[in-house]
Amino acid sequence: MTDRANRLQGQIAVVTGGSRGIGRATALRLARAGAQVTVGDYRIDPANEADFGPLQIRQEVCDVRDLAQLRSLIDGAAARGGRLDILVNNAGIVMVKPVTDVSEDDWDRCLDTNLKAAFFGTKYAIPHMRAVGGGSIVNMASNAGLLPRSHDPVYSISKMALVGLTKGLALSHSPDRIRVNCVCPGPVEATGIMDEELALQPDREAAVHNYIAASPLARAWDRMIHPDEIAEAICYLVSDAARMVTGTSLAIDGGKSLGVPPR
Ligand code: NAD
Repeated sequence: MTDRANRLQGQIAVVTGGSRGIGRATALRLARAGAQVTVGDYRIDPANEADFGPLQIRQEVCDVRDLAQLRSLIDGAAARGGRLDILVNNAGIVMVKPVTDVSEDDWDRCLDTNLKAAFFGTKYAIPHMRAVGGGSIVNMASNAGLLPRSHDPVYSISKMALVGLTKGLALSHSPDRIRVNCVCPGPVEATGIMDEELALQPDREAAVHNYIAASPLARAWDRMIHPDEIAEAICYLVSDAARMVTGTSLAIDGGKSLGVPPR
């Protein structure tokens, strides 16, 4: 087993939706562990260069709903690095709407980003990973993938399906030594998704309090989950330390999905 500090040395990684939030933290974490990382995002933030440049993290414009762009992101990283070891299907959007307000376009946008892109990203990564005797894929699910929620049915469906997809593809590709896992975060601060949700609330402070109160450990620490805490788990899942871990849905939600918290 390689040293913990540079456990991904020599590995080639792709992170979708890596311009901000959890994807950005993941790109930085994997690069600090030695991986050569390419980030694909439909919004490239030039300000990221300050942190990405020294770690040689490459940013590419990629809308994951456009399968040609997604394939080119993955094939390009594999061609530059001579191999592909890691794919993090992280790009995602929220959809907070009751069923009665959901349009076909809403459904397509959410499912195409959160689910279809993970399926096809995996499809494009498999031949590269097979060629080097294995690899590791992490899908960004959610607390919403573990528990039905009333306020965001389309988002929940996309994440529940992603948990199912993870298990199925983990089974299918175990003979290739390709591991497929997912992480299921609870409310994560310092992310675009959370900022957008909070901006819609009439009382931001009360909304933050409610998010914290819904997760037993977040309440105990009196704070939300941080993107680095998700990135650390992903770094473990893609490393050799997890070589016998596949098909798992790792809840990083402070116990939110366990049941009714103490009063
Ligand atoms: P974020 O908005 O900070 O990051 C999402 C990133 O995905 C952005 O950089 C965005 O530009 C990119 N993206 C969106 N659609 C894209 C597309 N079609 N093509 C390419 N890039 C696209 O939010 P985040 O919270 O870091 O979200 C990352 C993932 O984490 C999502 O899949 C989200 O569902 C999941 N998640 C977030 C939370 C949370 O509380 N923030 C909780 C559970 C799961």
